[in-house]
Amino acid sequence: MSSSESNGYGSGESVFVLCETCHWSATCFDKSRIDSEKCVICGNTAISTFPILPNEEFAFNYSERHGVELEFGLK
Ligand SMILES: [Zn+2]
Repeated sequence: MSSSESNGYGSGESVFVLCETCHWSATCFDKSRIDSEKCVICGNTAISTFPILPNEEFAFNYSERHGVELEFGLK
């Protein structure tokens, strides 16, 4: 896998952040900006982070029936 591709985001690595309590979610394009892994809505520290590669496509779905569904795929 090549990591030398320029994508305009500098060296930042994108991460997807999901709170397991209130299902707040966000995509951060620079994980260094997440200085404390805590939900900004409910303050819960039980959040999940998923790294997102520049060549990955990402989909987030939430339904009461199925809960949180995350889909990853190559573009
Ligand atoms: Zn929360």
